[in-house]
Amino acid sequence: MAGRNFLFVPGPTNVPDRVLRAMAVPMEDHRSPIFPELTRACLTGLKPVFKTTTGTPILFPSSGTGCWEAALTNCLNPGDKVLAARFGQFSHLWVDMCQRLGFEVEILDTPWGEGAPVERYLASLAADKQHRIKAVLVCQNETATGVTSDVAAVRRAMDSVKHPALLFVDSVSALVSIDFRMDEWGVDVCVSGSQKGLMLPAGMGVTCVSQKALEISKTAKAPRCYFDYADMVNANASGYFPYTPSVPMLYGLKESLAIIAEEGLENIFARHTHLARGVRAAVFEGWHLKLCATEPKWYSDTVSAIMVPDGINGADVIARAFKRYNLALGAGLARVAGKLFRIGHLGDLNELMLLGAIAGAEMAMLDVGVKIEPGSGVAAAQKLWRNNAPGVSKAAGAKASIAA
Ligand SMILES: *Cc1c(COP(=O)(O)O)cnc(C)c1O
Repeated sequence: MAGRNFLFVPGPTNVPDRVLRAMAVPMEDHRSPIFPELTRACLTGLKPVFKTTTGTPILFPSSGTGCWEAALTNCLNPGDKVLAARFGQFSHLWVDMCQRLGFEVEILDTPWGEGAPVERYLASLAADKQHRIKAVLVCQNETATGVTSDVAAVRRAMDSVKHPALLFVDSVSALVSIDFRMDEWGVDVCVSGSQKGLMLPAGMGVTCVSQKALEISKTAKAPRCYFDYADMVNANASGYFPYTPSVPMLYGLKESLAIIAEEGLENIFARHTHLARGVRAAVFEGWHLKLCATEPKWYSDTVSAIMVPDGINGADVIARAFKRYNLALGAGLARVAGKLFRIGHLGDLNELMLLGAIAGAEMAMLDVGVKIEPGSGVAAAQKLWRNNAPGVSKAAGAKASIAA
């Protein structure tokens, strides 16, 4: 098909040409005397991305899921209990992994479309007088439902009852796109990956571990080998890896960190809020449809999960968009399969790229019988973007979308 494929799934995201070029390198010896420069550029450059000075960034040759496994197996003992909320496919999969690895999970089942239930986290932690809960798990941005949760509030809940558990946060689809603060929020392990806000291909697990979690990992007995933090940290200390790293991925990461530094993290967050507001304007004011996220406070600035009307299969919208318009939209996963489609709006993108996705989704919906006004989503997004400069808060954006 002529022209570009429009990639609007919430990961993998568009890889900037600069990153692609930086990755087109000959292979080199990863034990050479100059290799540590590359390692250090990546690991040091990641610290501001996590907003940490005391945490230790670690790169695994995996996807984000590998970093979930690393967090659990490095910091816990066999059979340990963890507390986790489940409100979408990714928070579900993390719980599932805990169970498959033999950990006991206290699950806070929450309706899909809502975020982390802070009051219920608090109640469980307050009731756990013997401190059997060793880790608290939170998915910062549930990509399946387009819901962002308040990680700082979960930390406050833990502190208010002086609970010593570790705080593990899945920030795979938030890091570098939605604010994340490792040190300020007292996060012990942040789990992320290369193919979302970091604008790289999939294949690198990007995680950050607090001093407290690293200390605990020294005596934690859950079986692990490939994902051992100590092996990584020891090798990284001299600028090397315990096994062969992906050299192109490291060059790509170095370039993506340079791009991020040039734009500035706060500007990147503001751009994501601005772009997301345009998508929400298309959904609410243009198409008169609903998001899966049930309240403005949950609206995600990186992915919108758009409910299709009864009698329409979301999968048909996605298939039509792909086959006819060369547009890749995100599918409804598991419980919400067929009920929605998702527009990923994170990473290297701007208003006009997103207008392409909104226009394509609009055409695909019309083609499969969704009763919307042709051009309405595009017009609503255009109006919002023309009337608002980037840089307003998410809360203001949510209100504007609903009021208009
Ligand atoms: C993409 C994603 C994952 C899984 O990451 P992989 O890199 O596919 O392993 C986990 N959690 C969330 C919230 C995600 O968006």
